[in-house]
Amino acid sequence: MSEYFGIDDPTIKTSNFPKWEIQKGKEYRFAIAVEDIKKAFAGKKAHYFNKKRFLCKSDKKREICCTHSYGENGKSANDAKYRFGTVVVVYEINSAKEIVSWQVVPWYFNDQVWHQIKSIAEEFPLDTVDLKLVAVDPQMMKFTITNFKNCVWRRTEKIKQDVIAQAAPFLESLPKRICSNLTIAEIAEHIGLGDGTVATDTASSTDIGSIVEDL
Ligand SMILES: [Zn+2]
Repeated sequence: MSEYFGIDDPTIKTSNFPKWEIQKGKEYRFAIAVEDIKKAFAGKKAHYFNKKRFLCKSDKKREICCTHSYGENGKSANDAKYRFGTVVVVYEINSAKEIVSWQVVPWYFNDQVWHQIKSIAEEFPLDTVDLKLVAVDPQMMKFTITNFKNCVWRRTEKIKQDVIAQAAPFLESLPKRICSNLTIAEIAEHIGLGDGTVATDTASSTDIGSIVEDL
């Protein structure tokens, strides 16, 4: 599939890209919904500012996303943090503790959650267990995560094929959906540096201006 599309592409609806909506105080039984657990996670360093998560552009050279000081609520945003994504199957369980339905959704989380999952995985391979999540404070990514003894979807052939099929498109788009990939100029604008600081577009802007006048 092409990475490029026009603004009128009918297949692009933000509602096409659901994510796990975790409700405060609720308890969930879920599992990593990727058959090959060694390819189940994607991770990128990103900044978060003004309701936008964007890819850190620093590589060999530190870019403005890291060097410029900005943030909100007393927190600095120029400190890039890892953001992870995976695909999970979340079971709906009734009062008799039976699975009545399930849904496959992408899940994005921070390094604290990553370490919690990692420490479970050190003892119990993630393709052998379901996980239990208690949503202490979803907004702050505060969860208690433990494991069950087995993994329901992998043991149930009927569910298994459906889970794998439904997880596939989410898994493929995971790296792109962890954060926005802004250009340096877009980052500069977003963090309030305006156009003056990053002047790479000046020549082309001038050209566009003169064309518009000619018309
Ligand atoms: Zn950065």
